[in-house]
Amino acid sequence: MRILVQKYGGTSVADYECMSQVRDKVLGNLDKGYKVIVVLSAMSGETNRLIELASKWSKRPDPCEMDVLLSTGEQTSIALFTMMLKDYGIKARSFLGFQIPIQTDKSFGKARILDIDKDRVEEILEKYDVLVVAGFQGCDCEQRITTLGRGGSDTSAVAMAAALDAEVCEIYTDVDGVYTTDPNICPQARKINKIAYDEMLEMASMGAKVLQIRSVEFAKKYNVPIHVRSTFSAEQGTLVVQEDISMESAMVSGVAYDKDQARITLVDVYDEPGVAAKIFEPISAANIVVDMIVQNPSREGKTDMTFTVPKSNIEETLNILKRKNEDIGARAILHDADVAKVSVIGVGMRNHSGVAAIAFSALKNENINIMIISTSEIKISCLIEEKYTELAVRTLHEAFGLDQEPPKQVC
Ligand code: ADP
Ligand code: ASP
Ligand code: MG
Repeated sequence: MRILVQKYGGTSVADYECMSQVRDKVLGNLDKGYKVIVVLSAMSGETNRLIELASKWSKRPDPCEMDVLLSTGEQTSIALFTMMLKDYGIKARSFLGFQIPIQTDKSFGKARILDIDKDRVEEILEKYDVLVVAGFQGCDCEQRITTLGRGGSDTSAVAMAAALDAEVCEIYTDVDGVYTTDPNICPQARKINKIAYDEMLEMASMGAKVLQIRSVEFAKKYNVPIHVRSTFSAEQGTLVVQEDISMESAMVSGVAYDKDQARITLVDVYDEPGVAAKIFEPISAANIVVDMIVQNPSREGKTDMTFTVPKSNIEETLNILKRKNEDIGARAILHDADVAKVSVIGVGMRNHSGVAAIAFSALKNENINIMIISTSEIKISCLIEEKYTELAVRTLHEAFGLDQEPPKQVC
């Protein structure tokens, strides 16, 4: 049985016309002899609409009920799409996460997939030619509905592909591949033909929302090739695969940005063992992900500790810190939500020096102040004022010549 897993994002299933194009792609693959697992997102804007709706009903929506609500977006799209296929005489059936089942942990709103029953899916595939699966959702061990975090349908699709040893997982979206940066804010962005899992992982982690981070983690772990491509053209897109020799020459392969950052500074905390633990343990216990962290050199035994959290968690983080401050002992707790992180990414950085200097001088030339810097082997990130995000992205993109073909990328 040749199995193809295809995921279509929100803009690809936004209305009847878009879904018709998806249907034609699926029909084309049936003609080629594939059984097709189609993973769908909610129709464009629907998940945001449901989040907005919940905020009118409750100040702090219950996380379990929130997942019950948000999962309805995907339920609508799979039902509509399956009807369309059936009108064409296709043997198709829709499946919600719990009907497969896609087993997850209990982290409502950001659940992790634990298991997909391969035998059961293969059994279903004996009866149907197309399985239309609701992305973004699963169920925990008590059959409660869970969701996988924003953009989670990518992960649903890669997990299905991994479970079924599919040849490839195709991610169809509104751009025709992974670009050197977001093509919607930088017209000079260039499509990358092939990108390594690690590089894609950094791009996604640094904010390139074209793929959800966990989908790339999953693909890397189970060695599933991902093909990111457009629903609205037949063009080859970007292959996300294991690193190979042809990828090594580019010093920097992409620029990403993340506006979902808020900065918190604890002023004048004691510079002594245990202070960082006192600050970050309760934040981590609340499941809040801390990103960049800097601790200034100490002055007379005191220091400032600055870090970033997602914008949506700022209020909760501040509440935790205020509650714990008797123990932490900060003189003041400052915060700023008008910040963004821009990052340059490239596996080639391992073998090149001077990447940071190029990035910093490019930002300096535009008079953009850097508040925090963080680096890894293959990325440099700078926290800047949010209003300069687009300018910073375009500037860095140009500074690293990303609009030019790299010397030796073979695809
Ligand atoms: P879908 O609804 O299909 O899942 P998303 O909106 O989640 O689509 O992801 C596609 C979007 O990702 C593009 O429209 C683009 O604006 C954005 N994006 C950000 N960085 C990149 C990048 N490096 N390459 C391609 N797209 C990117
Ligand atoms: N519908 C969900 C979202 O908007 C999941 C997805 O589209 O991948 O985040
Ligand atoms: Mg997406």
